[in-house]
Amino acid sequence: MNMRTKLVVGNWKMNKTIREAEAAVDSFIKVVGGKPDVDVAICPAYVTIPRLRELLKNTHVKVGAQDVFWEEKGAFTGQVSPAMLYDAGVAFCIVGHSETRGRFGKMETDPAALGYFSETELTINKKIKSLLYYSITPILCVGETDAERTAGKTDEVISTQLEGALAGLDSVELYGLVVAYEPVWAIGTGKTCDSAEAERVCGSIRAWLSARLGDEEASSIRILYGGSVKASNANELFRQPNIDGGLVGGASLDPDEFRKIVVSA
Ligand code: PEP
Repeated sequence: MNMRTKLVVGNWKMNKTIREAEAAVDSFIKVVGGKPDVDVAICPAYVTIPRLRELLKNTHVKVGAQDVFWEEKGAFTGQVSPAMLYDAGVAFCIVGHSETRGRFGKMETDPAALGYFSETELTINKKIKSLLYYSITPILCVGETDAERTAGKTDEVISTQLEGALAGLDSVELYGLVVAYEPVWAIGTGKTCDSAEAERVCGSIRAWLSARLGDEEASSIRILYGGSVKASNANELFRQPNIDGGLVGGASLDPDEFRKIVVSA
């Protein structure tokens, strides 16, 4: 029996203007805000963060970011630093999402497009370190593509991603980290990993973390499942002992659907 509080994170991606965000908050906050036994966070576009913080200030719902650049300031056009996120009151930040790893939500992207964000294990590691410095909790995404799964490489791919992302960080620094298992083939496709397999992979992520950081520290880390989570499958997924909640993309855009997912947790 674990004592980890469930966490449900909505990743709005490049959706919702400020006005649309206001309407969404209005329609789910009465139920979501009344469930303090579940941690909830919304990751909107950068420009919407201040308004969302304002709207959620008297609730336990936190605001997260979808990405970060690791340098403090400087000539990095288009980027947002961890200091800026801290200043804006951001509590969580997604790192290493399969879209920022260069896949843009497509299962197998043309290699020519992979350079758009050029995220590598090294840049993910730098982002995590910079977020921890500002006490922002990273939500580290890991997961295999369809081709990697078919080749039986799921566990190997995920260990490599964990190894690279967490290099040079110790158990004290990583206490309370969030990891999201997001099989790339399940993101935005409507295909969900079945709960037994999602639990198997999340269990192996926890075993990897235990071996690297120690049992107590590993049990402080929440492991979320992400990939076409919806109200109809959330309950079954969140019942698994190693699944501590969900990272929800498409379904978080619909306040009613998101509210039901939070209630399932
Ligand atoms: C995501 O983008 O993190 C995600 C899980 O998306 P979806 O729920 O739409 O599959």
